Amino acid sequence: MSKRGVITVISGFSGAGKGTIVQRLVEQYGYAVSISATTRAPREGEVDGVHYFFKTNEAFEEMIRHNELMEYAGYVDHYYGTPRDYVMQQLEQGIDVILEIEMQGALQIKERFPEAVLVFITPPSYEELQARLTGRGTEGADVITKRLHRAAEECAYMEKYDYIVVNDVLEDCVTQVHQLVQSIHLKREHQQELIAKISRDFADHAR
Ligand code: 5GP
Repeated sequence: MSKRGVITVISGFSGAGKGTIVQRLVEQYGYAVSISATTRAPREGEVDGVHYFFKTNEAFEEMIRHNELMEYAGYVDHYYGTPRDYVMQQLEQGIDVILEIEMQGALQIKERFPEAVLVFITPPSYEELQARLTGRGTEGADVITKRLHRAAEECAYMEKYDYIVVNDVLEDCVTQVHQLVQSIHLKREHQQELIAKISRDFADHAR
């Protein structure tokens, strides 16, 4: 295990099951999840400081000015962004952090934190996504059509991600994401302390 945590960005089409996957990663493996700031209004049941930090436009722009966000993006008329301090504190403590964010934000993270892992979650097929969105029963037909259109546009972003994981059987998908994060810990960039220690030990003994 490396000392520093890994940033894992999870994105994917609306209805791909990102929320459930993230919840499982937290419950089963102890990942930390960043709570985003947003200017959109809370939905029923959403709590400030739990689901999001709900902000006015002015307060959000103030956060931008003070460089308090690791990334931010406009999505359907509202700002969304990741507060920096919490994520940094977790990483320092060696805890892996998940950011469940949309694609423009994901690319900003990759640019600023090249060691971050970008994971794109997709359903096995268009038909499956359509069935899930319809089955959920939370959106009307016109909203579902809009989301499917948007998903079609978002396909182009898949090329920018490090890993593409199919959410067919939920448990398999959760295991795959966890395993790939584990493999990142073994990368050389994350093992500089170990390399230094082993090199020192060997040099000492070779004297
Ligand atoms: P919703 O309004 O449905 O909660 O979220 C809309 C979209 O914003 C989702 O794709 C979600 O992943 C994304 N999102 C949530 N928080 C952030 C954030 O901090 N930064 C960015 N770039 N996107 C976010």
